[in-house]
Amino acid sequence: MSILLVEDSEDIVAILNRHLEKMGYKNTLNAASAELAFGILGMPGGNINKEVELILMDIGLPGLDGIEACRKIKSYQWYYDIPIIMVTADSSVTTLENAFKAGAIDYLTKPVKMIELRARVGSALKLKHEMDRRKAREVELEAMTRQLKEANRILTNLSYIDALTGVANRRYFDDYFEQEWKKAFRDHTFISVIMVDIDFFKMFNDTEGHSAGDECLRRIAGALSDSMRRPGDFIARYGGEEFISVLPDTSIDGAAIIGETMRTNVCSLNIGFANSKTVTVSIGAAATIPDKTMTIKWLISEANRALFTAKKSGKNQVKVF
Ligand code: GH3
Ligand code: MG
Ligand code: MG
Ligand code: MG
Repeated sequence: MSILLVEDSEDIVAILNRHLEKMGYKNTLNAASAELAFGILGMPGGNINKEVELILMDIGLPGLDGIEACRKIKSYQWYYDIPIIMVTADSSVTTLENAFKAGAIDYLTKPVKMIELRARVGSALKLKHEMDRRKAREVELEAMTRQLKEANRILTNLSYIDALTGVANRRYFDDYFEQEWKKAFRDHTFISVIMVDIDFFKMFNDTEGHSAGDECLRRIAGALSDSMRRPGDFIARYGGEEFISVLPDTSIDGAAIIGETMRTNVCSLNIGFANSKTVTVSIGAAATIPDKTMTIKWLISEANRALFTAKKSGKNQVKVF
C-alpha cells in the first residue's frame, strides 16, 4: 500500500517524504503535477493503481490545479472512496470550500507540522480501511444472497410437493418415512403405514374424462389430508391414483381408525361418475415396532398386501395387517 504525494516543490516533497518515512510509510509515490499523478493512477485508459490508498494533494500546481485534479480523480469509480488530503498555503474559506466540494476529505496547511500530518493521515487511512472492510462485507453479503436465491430455486424445482394435488410427493414421503422409521427403531415405538388406492379410477377417467379425473384426485388428496390427526401424521401422493400415509407412534388399531376416517371422508365427497357410481377408496394398513430384521420396504409391502385384500374383498374398505 502506498501514499501518493502530488507536490511541485522539491523542498516540500523532501520534508513530507521524511515525515512520512518516520511515520512508517515507506512507499510514497511522488508526482510534481496533476498530469503526472493521473499517469500514476492510470487515468485515463491505463491500469487502475490499486496500491494507492491515500493522496496528499498540493493546490497550487503547474497546469491543472489540485482542486481540479481532486475532482477528476473522484470522478473515477475506483477512486471514489480514496481519501484526498489537500496540502495548501492558502487556507482561505473559499479555497477550502472548493476543495471539499471537489471531494477532499481534509486539509493540511503549509508549513506542515509532523504531528498534524500524523493525525490527519492516520485518521484518513483508518476511515479508508473501515470503508474497504465494509465494501468487502457487502460483496460477501451479495454473494451469499445470490447463493441463497440459487439454493431456493433448486429447492423449489426439486419440490417436495406434488404439483397436481398439493400434498407431499413421494420424495418427501421417502425422506420423512426414513426419519420416522429410525426414530421408532431408537425409541421402540410403533410406526404405521397406510396405502390408499382409488377404486375403479380407470373407469372414472374413461367416463368423466382425464381432467375430471385430475380434479377428483385433488379432492381426494384434500379429504385424506383432513383425516390426519396428529402433527406427525403424514400423507403423500405415492404415484398415479395411490396415496400413502405414515403415522408415527401409532399401532395397528390407531392406523385402522385413521384408515376408516379416510375411507368415510372420501365417501362424503360424494363424487359421482358413470351415472350411478360414487368414488371410493380401498385401504390397507400395517404397523410394527422396527427391529434390525425389518426394512421400510417390507412394511410398505405388508400395507400393499392388506390393500390387495381390501380390493379382493369388494373395495371401499379398510384391511389391516
Ligand atoms: P382398482 O379399483 O382395482 O384400483 O382399479 P383402477 O381402475 O382404479 O386401477 P388401475 O390401476 O387399473 O387404473 C388406475 C388409473 O388411474 C389409470 C390411470 O389412468 C389413472 N391415473 C393415474 N394417475 C392419474 C392422474 O394423474 N390423473 C388422472 N386423471 N388419472 C390418473
Ligand atoms: Mg505548489
Ligand atoms: Mg392403482
Ligand atoms: Mg385404483
